[in-house]
Amino acid sequence: MAVTGSPELLIVMGAAATTEQVEDVVARLAEAGADAHVTPGKDATVIGAIGERDLLSQLPLESYPGVEQVLPILKPYKLVSKEMRSGPTVIDVRGRRVGDGYFGLIAGPCSVEYREQTMEAAHAVRDAGASMLRGGAFKPRSSPYAFQGLGQEGLDILKEAREETGLPIVTELMDARDVEAVVDAADVIQIGARNMQNFTLLAEVGRSGKAVLLKRGASATIEELLMAAEYVLREGNSEVMLCERGIRTFERATRFTLDLGAVPVLKLETHLPVIVDPSHAAGRRDLVAPLARAAVAAGADGIIVEVHPRPDEALSDASQQIPSAEFARFADEIRALASLMGKVIG
Ligand code: PEP
Ligand code: MN
Repeated sequence: MAVTGSPELLIVMGAAATTEQVEDVVARLAEAGADAHVTPGKDATVIGAIGERDLLSQLPLESYPGVEQVLPILKPYKLVSKEMRSGPTVIDVRGRRVGDGYFGLIAGPCSVEYREQTMEAAHAVRDAGASMLRGGAFKPRSSPYAFQGLGQEGLDILKEAREETGLPIVTELMDARDVEAVVDAADVIQIGARNMQNFTLLAEVGRSGKAVLLKRGASATIEELLMAAEYVLREGNSEVMLCERGIRTFERATRFTLDLGAVPVLKLETHLPVIVDPSHAAGRRDLVAPLARAAVAAGADGIIVEVHPRPDEALSDASQQIPSAEFARFADEIRALASLMGKVIG
């Protein structure tokens, strides 16, 4: 259900609260002219009360049967905030999981270029134990003269790669006009850094019913990233992974500055899984492994890495893609580190 107002209060129902008690609270909120956003959880159901804060604070919510606690939501982000859920959100796409101890190892080429290139990469990453395949069919390129992606033909290749390997597909949606085509091919819709604050696109993917991988804009604050995710959750879709992919600073030695601090900050603020893209932050392949290792150590719930059978021939991001032949070793190292952090590849 789409949320139309801003949730101002959290009503935490006790573990033993019955469905009737939850419904009763929702009904009483409705009587008072307020709305409710109900999030069932493993241990407790949380109700976000939407309405005027002054009016809500006059209701004797704490005395309603089944209510354990009533808390004001003071942060600008509401549905993504940690308080909104009794535990971390786990994204489950075709049985591959990310979050709460499940580490997402997403790998594949920057762009889908042609069938064999994508199939080679897909088989290599699947055989090495990746949990999902990435690949762009619609590419956000800085130059209008650069390769823009294969569009629909690329989506068809990705569908074939899923059939061959069984890996769920992560692919970018750039334009709301392509939403149907991308929804049809993707298991996870990627919203790129450049579109992080494309609010109509965010609402569109929120309504799509697909899981979303939301990348942080290169000049966006952590709060802006969380507010962008709020647009998706507001449409009733809480299957969102947040992705730190490097921000723009004065430093030129790396393509972007990987803000590793964002990982623990986000983990404290939100119930959503947090992943890291070391490839776009590094901009060069020899830095991808160390940044990926650091991401795991910082507590990330996954990484998304660019892998190409012949990186030097790649039509986009040639310098940062890892050769397929080297991915198995890379994946082994990540798996071992994830295990040290108490996580398994999901
Ligand atoms: C990508 O993942 O291919 C990409 C373009 O990433 P970003 O939006 O982070 O630049
Ligand atoms: Mn890329």
